[in-house]
Amino acid sequence: MKDVNCIFCKIANGEIPSKTLYEDEQFRVILDLGPATKGHALILPKEHYANLYELPEELAGETMKLAKKMVVKMTERLKCEGFNLIQNNGDMAGQTVFHFHMHMIPRYQADGQKIGWKPMEVTQEELEETRNEIVG
Ligand code: AMP
Ligand code: ZN
Repeated sequence: MKDVNCIFCKIANGEIPSKTLYEDEQFRVILDLGPATKGHALILPKEHYANLYELPEELAGETMKLAKKMVVKMTERLKCEGFNLIQNNGDMAGQTVFHFHMHMIPRYQADGQKIGWKPMEVTQEELEETRNEIVG
């Protein structure tokens, strides 16, 4: 299914031009218009799923397989020294375009980006409580 109001549906299906790195029946991979670093790319499924919650499991698997292929190729071509894969779900997590996408961000020496978080301090008891909440 496509969403007529969704910009990534239009890009993924070729109605809006993009700098495409790869395309097959299920996906289009494009360069991000506001890149974190040179080569920052997005994997877009051609069907509309708002986020990981909606994405079928099979397509989730295919997304990761494609990410692996793209990361290997881009590392060879761009001579980058590492990669971040980032995938945001929901406003609270920083998602701004509500069509599932996977960021692939090449990393270079002194690229000036800092992608990370401030670790909390937790006790073993708190970890155990959290574990029970998730799997108890
Ligand atoms: P997120 O915050 O995870 O939803 O990421 C959305 C990403 O889409 C951002 O990195 C934007 O720079 C990128 N973006 C938004 N519009 C376009 C567009 N028309 N073409 C390419 N990238 C886009
Ligand atoms: Zn869409």
